[in-house]
Amino acid sequence: MPIVDEARLAEAMKSIVGEAYVLVDDESRTNYGHDETEDLVFLPEVVVRPRTPEEISAIMVYCNEKGIPVTPRGAGTGLSGGALPTQGGVLLSTDRLNSIVDIDERNLQVTTEPGVITEVLQDAVKAKGLFYPPDPSSRGSCFIGGNISENSGGPKAVKYGVVRDYVLNLQVVLPTGAVIWTGANVLKNSTGYNLTQLIVGSEGTLAVVTKIVLKLIPYPKYDVLMLVPFTDLEKAGEAVSAIFRAGFTPSALELVEIDALVITSRMVGSTVVPVTDDVAAHLIVELDGNHMETLLSEAEAIATLLEGYGGGELFFADDAQQKAELWKIRRRAAEAIKAAGYTIEEDTVVPRAELPALIRGVKELGRKYGFHAVCYGHAGDGNLHIRIKKEGTRASLDDPQMVESLRALFQLVKALGGTISGEHGIGLVQKPYMDIMFSETQLGLMRAIKRVFDPNNILNPGKIFE
Ligand SMILES: Cc1cc2nc3c(=O)[nH]c(=O)nc-3n(C[C@H](O)[C@H](O)[C@H](O)COP(=O)(O)OP(=O)(O)OC[C@H]3O[C@@H](n4cnc5c(N)ncnc54)[C@H](O)[C@@H]3O)c2cc1C
Repeated sequence: MPIVDEARLAEAMKSIVGEAYVLVDDESRTNYGHDETEDLVFLPEVVVRPRTPEEISAIMVYCNEKGIPVTPRGAGTGLSGGALPTQGGVLLSTDRLNSIVDIDERNLQVTTEPGVITEVLQDAVKAKGLFYPPDPSSRGSCFIGGNISENSGGPKAVKYGVVRDYVLNLQVVLPTGAVIWTGANVLKNSTGYNLTQLIVGSEGTLAVVTKIVLKLIPYPKYDVLMLVPFTDLEKAGEAVSAIFRAGFTPSALELVEIDALVITSRMVGSTVVPVTDDVAAHLIVELDGNHMETLLSEAEAIATLLEGYGGGELFFADDAQQKAELWKIRRRAAEAIKAAGYTIEEDTVVPRAELPALIRGVKELGRKYGFHAVCYGHAGDGNLHIRIKKEGTRASLDDPQMVESLRALFQLVKALGGTISGEHGIGLVQKPYMDIMFSETQLGLMRAIKRVFDPNNILNPGKIFE
């Protein structure tokens, strides 16, 4: 890393974005120096808050010439450390690029800047009867640009797919300062390499996303939501694939282990879910569509099916308020469990039918390596979030035994046909485990792509791989 003359860098940034939008005080650098990953903080030399692609281009030209690292940041809700400025330099916040540019009702598309909060975008299109389904549980605070960069998922991915499935075209600023569009605003495109999809999920290492064109669909008219208790966690996992085998596709199918439910209910002050001593986990099942009668008969059939897997008396969310409360408990689980000391989060994903084997393996590894794990997540996708608490350990990278136990976990995930991140990305904290998933040949291809986009390695250096 080059030695950065902080004063000169700050002056150069002020000449591009204006004095008010360059922050150098300790408090701001700390605020922008962490995300939601474990307890990690890295201070940038300066925080820069541009408003336009042209300003971002000028920042990139300056930093590229001087070899100064630039770390793009959305809302800082990431769970793999992608937005952490680990090598100092410029922290480039996208929070002022926060306009929805156009909702095209004729073509069912929306064009937006990256700093728009995901839920704000969803509400804006919903007001026109349109639906943008990808809904990370953090949707009330994360930015759509962060979602693009992580290829985020969320509860609705099980029926509607992830962010990648909705991105039609992107405007990006390259590390050299060039501003390009990656594709066209069309539903099909076989024209050359797919640069749009290369940028999706690239975690701010290839380009800064400055405009986004998304596909929309009509908003479904109705939904039903139910919660089913299980006395056996693994049986709950088994029931998940049975639902699909029986021909149903829920619009959300989430698993919440009992510890997660108790901790979160306590934090949000909710008593909506009755907890008895024998319950080990719940499945949250949501169905949506345009015909209420069909949804109700499907819900009834699923309830009967789940009885065969030990599913207990189900709780039906009767009205909008009960639905909102149930979703609040699910959406705030990560935050609540972290506050209870489970600071390390893994984002494993396996083929759906392997969920019980993964759950069993996690518990065995916990006993072997002396950690306690709480499981929850997007079970319908086979995507299990594992929150880990270990006495004396707040961050995974600090603890050699934790690194060893995570290697064992990821080797299990691979043996089950899965992979180490379903939706949170690799960033900083999963980087040490990439060799479990990829050979040197595969990693070499990824490094070569990075070099083409970013020959001087200034854009989010040291993320995904060295
Ligand atoms: C309570 C909680 C619940 C969550 N639930 C889910 C969930 O259900 N599903 C899910 O997928 N994730 C979830 N997440 C993780 C997180 O919210 C997502 O990864 C989200 O997409 C990050 O968005 P952000 O704006 O906060 O991005 P940041 O954390 O700021 O950045 C994430 C990455 O994107 C890059 N980046 C950001 N903006 C740009 C840009 N404009 N151009 C280029 N690169 C950029 C950054 O460099 C970084 O690598 C959850 C997080 C929390 C805290």
